[in-house]
Amino acid sequence: MSKAPQTNIRVLRERVKDKHCAFLSSLAKEVNLVWNYCNELSSKYTERTGQFMSSYTMDKYTAGATKAGLNIPASTVQAISSEYCTRRKQFKKRRLAWRKSGGSKRSLGWIPFKKDAIVYRNGQIFFQKKPIGIFKSYDLRDKVIKCGSFSQDARGRWYVNLTVEVQIAIANTSTKAVGIDLGLKTTAVTSDGDQMVSRRYRELEGKLAMSQRTHKAKLSKTISSKIRNRRNNDQHQFSRLLANEYGAIFVGNISSSKLIKTKMAKSVHDAGWSQFKTMLEYKCHEAGVVFLEVNESNTTQTCSSCGQKPPSRPKGIAGLGIREWTCDGCGVIHDRDINASKNILRIGLDTLAVGASQLNQGRFEPPCFSYGE
Ligand SMILES: [Zn+2]
Repeated sequence: MSKAPQTNIRVLRERVKDKHCAFLSSLAKEVNLVWNYCNELSSKYTERTGQFMSSYTMDKYTAGATKAGLNIPASTVQAISSEYCTRRKQFKKRRLAWRKSGGSKRSLGWIPFKKDAIVYRNGQIFFQKKPIGIFKSYDLRDKVIKCGSFSQDARGRWYVNLTVEVQIAIANTSTKAVGIDLGLKTTAVTSDGDQMVSRRYRELEGKLAMSQRTHKAKLSKTISSKIRNRRNNDQHQFSRLLANEYGAIFVGNISSSKLIKTKMAKSVHDAGWSQFKTMLEYKCHEAGVVFLEVNESNTTQTCSSCGQKPPSRPKGIAGLGIREWTCDGCGVIHDRDINASKNILRIGLDTLAVGASQLNQGRFEPPCFSYGE
């Protein structure tokens, strides 16, 4: 919740045209070779010395690799060793999995690079001075590329992931604040009653199940990708709308791990809460919108009109099925999710007022709840 800086780091993903697949796949084999070399080198070093080999030391061993006939740039070799060391630290292992270039357990292609190896010019990426056509979905002309990678998906399509610095646009000066309840049925509902409407990918689930039953692997992969794309698209659009509309956004700190153990598990995975939160957070950050996660315990059970917890409230896992309820205390009829998001909004505004008054600067009016009447 710090003040937004002037630039932000983003990863932009662009699809590479299929005619470059063979070229990239051949480079990916070299990447695997280097990775496996690092893996062996590192694990032997650990066996001998009891310590992890640093990427700096590793680079001394791999320095001659590009001269010895590899086509990947030297900076890619360095990017591999540094990624290797990061993963080794992350998984706390002496040895990581080998990268496989063939067979059914083949590793998905991956080619990291540093900024010196890549240039964007006239709608094309130049990697190692070789032009690589992409389907442009971002304007890359004024972007400063810092580093990135090529990566392959399960369908064999290649993408280029560019880590770029983006200028932050003029701050959003909206004084409206909103609370968002991340729920199971509609995924996200705001305190103003808006919701993420489309769940069009649901239509594809039957087809996916059918293709899996009949062991059509290629078709399954295609449908899975479509489902993922549709869901990402919905989440991007909704988070964009919210970040443009509001000056402060509050979401519940729901932990999906708790619900994953219940029958709701499938729905929880579908909803992709953490991904949606991440999207919303960076969009808010770029637009200078306040983004805050608040403790959402009891937000479903508390009446947002009178602040009581009446006996008629939806309770526990069983209460998840209750969509609408009437408060015994004040008689207001609640939509379960909108009620929860109104409570999240109130908690968020209270937190802002208490914790970061200079950030708030009276921009956001407290909601007109009539407690104790
Ligand atoms: Zn009430």
